[in-house]
Amino acid sequence: MTITVDAKRCIGCGMCAAAVPGIFAVEGGVSVVKGQPEGAQERRAFDAANGCPVNAIRITR
Ligand code: SF4
Repeated sequence: MTITVDAKRCIGCGMCAAAVPGIFAVEGGVSVVKGQPEGAQERRAFDAANGCPVNAIRITR
């Protein structure tokens, strides 16, 4: 799976970084992807994408 964040949509709320800190980090007011999830992190990354209030997280397989 590959995760990307649309920086134009992201409002920097930090929810994704709090949920999966190894994958997302808020830098300069937007979330950046720090790594790609593996194993158990994949489900948490999906949950973070579903929970993003502005649908800024894209997941492709
Ligand atoms: S949850 Fe969405 S809006 Fe919030 S920091 Fe993450 S990508 Fe940005």
